Amino acid sequence: MRITMIGTGYVGLVSGACLAEIGHEIRCVDKDASKIERLLQGIMPIYEPGLDTLVGRNVEAGRLSFTTDLAAAVDGADAVFIAVGTPSRKSDGHADLSYVYAAAREIAASLTGPTVIVTKSTVPVGTGDAIERIAEEANPGIKVDVASNPEFLREGAAIGDFMKPDRVVVGTQTDTARDVLQKIYAPLEAEGAPIVFTARRTSELIKYAANAFLSIKITFINEIADLCEAVGADVRDVSRGIGLDNRIGTKFLNAGPGYGGSCFPKDTLALLKTAEDYQSPIRVVDAVVYVNERRKRAMGRKVLKAMGEGDPRGKTVAILGLTFKPDTDDMREAPALSIIQALQDVGVKVRAHDPEGMVHARELLKDVEFVDGPYEAVEGAHAVAIVTEWDLYRDLDLPRVAGLMAEPVLVDLRNCYTRDQAEKAGMHYEAIGRGGSAG
Ligand code: NAD
Repeated sequence: MRITMIGTGYVGLVSGACLAEIGHEIRCVDKDASKIERLLQGIMPIYEPGLDTLVGRNVEAGRLSFTTDLAAAVDGADAVFIAVGTPSRKSDGHADLSYVYAAAREIAASLTGPTVIVTKSTVPVGTGDAIERIAEEANPGIKVDVASNPEFLREGAAIGDFMKPDRVVVGTQTDTARDVLQKIYAPLEAEGAPIVFTARRTSELIKYAANAFLSIKITFINEIADLCEAVGADVRDVSRGIGLDNRIGTKFLNAGPGYGGSCFPKDTLALLKTAEDYQSPIRVVDAVVYVNERRKRAMGRKVLKAMGEGDPRGKTVAILGLTFKPDTDDMREAPALSIIQALQDVGVKVRAHDPEGMVHARELLKDVEFVDGPYEAVEGAHAVAIVTEWDLYRDLDLPRVAGLMAEPVLVDLRNCYTRDQAEKAGMHYEAIGRGGSAG
């Protein structure tokens, strides 16, 4: 199938490359000329494991191309996917659909024949209806079918998630759209991926319901972790003890500093806004948003508390990990941002390292000293906090870390170490949800 992908961010680029890999002819469009320029030179605009190889192979095979020329790229396409950003609207937290609508208008205006416009961007219920109206206004003579096909990939594991999805969700209102999407995903279906066909509005809601549910799970275990600290229990054992129950499942039960990233924070807010507009409140998600937002800054206070009594002003804290999770360079809504702000607010100096996130982090953080490695970060520091569980930080030489620090205090916000390991290295150790546990 001939497919055009509008937007070559985390989702558009990965989806485009993977759709090429399963045999389709993909034209990727972005309005950011520098991104396209880099892609044409084989330079990836994002960090995602395996992406450069996948893109290179498919460009070489002639199945994947990049352009800024949207009109030329949509010409003759069987389907045009919209994979542009849907950030939170500053005024009210609803999804800002201006990029989606602008893309839809441009696509429709450029069409010379029928096509299916597919939203891969995460969009609130009813967006497909709006795109239908926009297309009709922009190009009244052309038949356009609009489908919803939300993306569930995880940054850091995006290619595997796309190629071997738990499910593909497709929301359509017409047989034409359904047939086109079925053909597009036939190679994945043949490999066993279940395709969930629904009505378009249902499909739009599925994406938000999925992200909200995962946010609930994370926030639940985070609050249980706080209770573990209060009552002298170990959250890792609680997670295992409940997670082995098939009805609960083991995933998304690692307590930590709160969720961040480009999806959960904005998608929970947008779901709440939709619920409000339709006067159908989802109070559990309200609570999750409230709790998670406060938790990130509370982690800054946890680091200060671990440093003990006394004025923290002028002391140095080493932050290991800045991205919202490992194996990505994405800094959007990363807990590290709130934690660092909380530390700087009381006069603490911050030195930080991240294997992939420092380029974007420099744009977002002021007065942070960025260094080349974890051991440089801890030199002379009064505490070190592991904020993102990159493999590199799971395997630190703790005695060496302790020896380099002014005060050997380790605040392990991802539970990478046991208390024994830290204490044997001579460190004062604080972790998440490990009340009174020796392990
Ligand atoms: P992103 O910001 O990384 O990329 C969006 C790209 O679209 C940018 O490169 C931008 O220049 C381009 N763009 C915007 N308007 C355009 C236009 N009119 N024409 C051409 N290009 C245009 O965004 P992302 O993280 O890839 O997210 C895209 C969508 O997918 C969002 O709705 C997001 O919620 C959803 N999503 C993201 C993830 C994720 O892990 N990042 C996962 C699932 C779903």
